Amino acid sequence: MSKVSKIAVLTSGGDAPGMNPCIRAVVRTAMYNNVKMVGVRQGYKGLIEDDIYDMDSRSVSNILNLGGTILKTARCAEFRTPEGMETAYNNLKKRGVDALVVIGGDGTFTGALRFSKQYPDMAIMGVPGTIDNDLFGSDFTLGFDTATNTVVDALDKIRDTADAHDRLFFIEVMGRDAGCIALRAGISCGAEAIMLPEKDTAIADLIASVKSNQAKKSSSIVIVAEGDKNGGAYDVAQKVKAEVKSYDVKVTILGHLQRGGSPSAFDRVLGSRLGFSAVNALIQGETQKMVGLRGNKIELTKIEQALTHQFKLEDDLMLMSDILSI
Ligand code: ATP
Repeated sequence: MSKVSKIAVLTSGGDAPGMNPCIRAVVRTAMYNNVKMVGVRQGYKGLIEDDIYDMDSRSVSNILNLGGTILKTARCAEFRTPEGMETAYNNLKKRGVDALVVIGGDGTFTGALRFSKQYPDMAIMGVPGTIDNDLFGSDFTLGFDTATNTVVDALDKIRDTADAHDRLFFIEVMGRDAGCIALRAGISCGAEAIMLPEKDTAIADLIASVKSNQAKKSSSIVIVAEGDKNGGAYDVAQKVKAEVKSYDVKVTILGHLQRGGSPSAFDRVLGSRLGFSAVNALIQGETQKMVGLRGNKIELTKIEQALTHQFKLEDDLMLMSDILSI
């Protein structure tokens, strides 16, 4: 017999392509198992403001291809307070909700874990939904693949104009703490240098590499992840420009376009898999865990562990990115 009778689903923190396929899978898997469903608009804000509505299979029709999240998302300071959590709990309880699926990043999971420790009768299952790909316990997070493809598409276009004008471009991509998007997009587009939060790049080394590239290539692209220790792309460009006066230097900040767009097939399948597994795990009585994909298998990881930030960029990709750009 199922350990849950009614599940609430919400999306929280930054939106990520693939959230909608995941919501769809959560709702339909619950329906299939005769578990009732409600959706919460705007993440924890909606929990506190009681913005909660009944969902069924038809509530999630025709959303597989949509970016963003039909449930909307928000950041909510009030949920960090005991009073906010109590209001959220009471709003769920009065509807008979006994389990919650939260789709989001590390902040969302931190909030969910605190909430579940405060109210252990509310089972919690996390789904990693963040373009940053920075959660331990899943090889990939929802939205990372789509965001990387968006960056690759933009870089290909920038390469055309960079080549035509013999320019040096500094492109800033998302990644405050994790350089996953920068690294994969850089390898995909043959970037001449990739600057990552995980790697200390000395400006002197970058200048030497740019100068040596200028002698053999018509254009150069340097990818700067937001969290690189030398500052953003403008700061890095400024420092390099002074030393390579003969190069026409341009800066592009890709910004929020990286979050949008229709989810890739990979993110649609990943969202479906994770949503399906989240509901099945709750039905089996699991709580305070995150569903993730590891080695192409679904695995559950304790939320506490998922938050340990043990995530590490692949050594072979780091090594290869330097070698292949010579
Ligand atoms: P992304 O990785 O895309 O930024 P995220 O889930 O990490 O997504 P955050 O803004 O960090 O996004 O967190 C989302 C929400 O989770 C916050 O607005 C807040 O409501 C809740 N939250 C975060 N940390 C806590 C905490 N310590 N206690 C309670 N709630 C929290």
